[in-house]
Amino acid sequence: MTQAKSPGLCNERLSLAQYANHFADAHPPLNAIQAKIEAERCYYCYDAPCTIACPTGIDIPSFIAKIAQGNLRGAAKTILEENIMGGMCARVCPTEVLCEQACVRNTNQEKPVEIGLLQRHATDAHMANPGSALFTRANKTGKKIAVVGAGPAGLSCAHRLALLGHEVDVFDKNSKAGGLNEYGLATYKTTNHFAQKEIEWLLSIGGITLHLNQALGQDFSLESLTQTYDAVFLGIGLAGVNQLSLHTGPVTGLQNAVDFIASLRQANHVKEVVVGNQVVVIGGGMTAVDAAVQAKKLGASEVTIVYRKGPDNMSASVEEQKWARLNDVRLQFYASPVRVLSEQETVVAIEFSKSVVVQGQVTAQTETLTLAADMVLTAVGQKLQVEDVNGLALQDGKIQCDDNGKTAYAKIWVGGDCRLGGKDLTVEAVQHGKLAAIDIDKALNALS
Ligand SMILES: Cc1cc2nc3c(=O)[nH]c(=O)nc-3n(C[C@H](O)[C@H](O)[C@H](O)COP(=O)(O)OP(=O)(O)OC[C@H]3O[C@@H](n4cnc5c(N)ncnc54)[C@H](O)[C@@H]3O)c2cc1C
Ligand code: SF4
Repeated sequence: MTQAKSPGLCNERLSLAQYANHFADAHPPLNAIQAKIEAERCYYCYDAPCTIACPTGIDIPSFIAKIAQGNLRGAAKTILEENIMGGMCARVCPTEVLCEQACVRNTNQEKPVEIGLLQRHATDAHMANPGSALFTRANKTGKKIAVVGAGPAGLSCAHRLALLGHEVDVFDKNSKAGGLNEYGLATYKTTNHFAQKEIEWLLSIGGITLHLNQALGQDFSLESLTQTYDAVFLGIGLAGVNQLSLHTGPVTGLQNAVDFIASLRQANHVKEVVVGNQVVVIGGGMTAVDAAVQAKKLGASEVTIVYRKGPDNMSASVEEQKWARLNDVRLQFYASPVRVLSEQETVVAIEFSKSVVVQGQVTAQTETLTLAADMVLTAVGQKLQVEDVNGLALQDGKIQCDDNGKTAYAKIWVGGDCRLGGKDLTVEAVQHGKLAAIDIDKALNALS
């Protein structure tokens, strides 16, 4: 076993068999018989509420009917023509608050149709054996579009633009494409390098060139892009993290949760990732839950999520809170972090003040709470790196645009987490990219 600096922090806490078990697919795929039975539960509603609830508007009854008929290629086409990342969304969409919540079977007090798993069944079958191309590009338009950010928003935009006959250059500051599909989503939601396999398939349409390790604001500017390209799409996500000042100076064991999750996704094997024995995660969202559950799965003996408000205020859904508890993560509410306590520049505990929430405002009380900890992960939100988008109008820290992502600048569209007014979900980023591409195409056609 490799010991890290603090005795509480170490990797290789578990056997290989335990790691394999803990990091296996959280929602294993359906087999052919299960898929057929599940597909036959669908009422094939007219004006289906599930389709309305899906941010990408997939014709859900239609793809489910195709699965029931054994036409998996047709089902995949129905899904992917609306949502080119239908494979990833099938794995990570919070279906309990989207399509499955709206399922008529659900509202009749039954179990909803497992739309996410059926979507995965069809798209996985296609990816495993694509055969001839599902989509054919339109004739070349001679137009060139720059997409900045190779996350779900940028790649979805690039694919639709390529389909419409445009040439697309995609720039990303990272060394791998995928954005949070590659660096952020929980390991047990997307196993076996699915993000890269999906990107490889998506790029097979042609007409898209990836330029990795290229950062807006560093290697090129918005101005240079607008001069060189016919249009520009920004899907740069929220690349900054909110910080809490909990300790003066560096201290081993204090880390932000996004980096911790990225280290899990990028490790050759999860056994390499260092984790504490007593882990405290600060925050109330999906990132806090994913960090906490993965810390537990790495072998931490105690993991506590501490949130300054109550369970109803958490942005992590009820299902996610259940998932945390199911994985032995403790949830502590109404406590605001004050400071990290350290010995020899290593975390030993964290102090909180008890809080009350009055009309949505958190007020710290005099009573305190101290939790022993050798690792503290902060998950208190991400933010736009505003210096990257100098000149664009912002509101609430995000870029202003119309419903199609068009900004006040003639050639610039935006989408995904960096755009004002979203829910910060993968599926929504895909939809933003698609809508912007359609609008860019319309604008370019109007010019020619
Ligand atoms: C830990 C975590 C877990 C999540 N889990 C889920 C989940 O289970 N389900 C779900 O639906 N959503 C989940 N989300 C939210 C989801 O990942 C995002 O909503 C989605 O990835 C947004 O897509 P995007 O394309 O807008 O941004 P991103 O995925 O962030 O991609 C942005 C891309 O832009 C690049 N970029 C940034 N700045 C620059 C620059 N200056 N120059 C060049 N490139 C740049 C980045 O490198 C990145 O590749 C999670 C988010 C986090 C943080
Ligand atoms: S993309 Fe997501 S919300 Fe839409 S149907 Fe598929 S699983 Fe449901």
